[in-house]
Amino acid sequence: MSRLIEAVSYAARKHVHQRRKGANAEPYVNHVIDVAERVSRSPLADEDVVIAALLHDVVEDTDGTAADIALMFGDRVAGLVLEVTDDKSLPKARRKEVQEQTAGLKSDGAKRIKLADKASNLTALAESPPVYWEPSRSAAYVAWAERVVAGCRGIDPVLEAGFDTAAVRAKAALGL
Ligand code: ZN
Repeated sequence: MSRLIEAVSYAARKHVHQRRKGANAEPYVNHVIDVAERVSRSPLADEDVVIAALLHDVVEDTDGTAADIALMFGDRVAGLVLEVTDDKSLPKARRKEVQEQTAGLKSDGAKRIKLADKASNLTALAESPPVYWEPSRSAAYVAWAERVVAGCRGIDPVLEAGFDTAAVRAKAALGL
């Protein structure tokens, strides 16, 4: 089995009980496939980065571990996943601050995953906003995503353009 298919299958099993917050409540795995598809559009992204994109929320949101990922997909993929994994021992607001402060320090591969992840989230916000989010919360999310992405710029024109398109769409959908 190809590593890519193995990664899709592993992500689908790990996220099996999760749904997205949006009104459509899509299966969570749709999100990680979307992020990986976006990353794969960059001519600068290699297979390890696409696989790490498929697995980018496994350690943060499931019982999967970096050690499991290293065994299955190698140390580089596990390292990329850890670079984009929030420290869950911190309160949510602090985790969001840390993302802003550390985005610029990440490897180029991790920056590509972050660019695609934020683009995916803003597209979801435009197409299927969480029903219980006030407009001000959505607006704050867009502004925060833009601040995180500011630290990821300068390395990947394709993924930056993809993020910018998603941000324009999200703002239009939210009337910002
Ligand atoms: Zn994500």
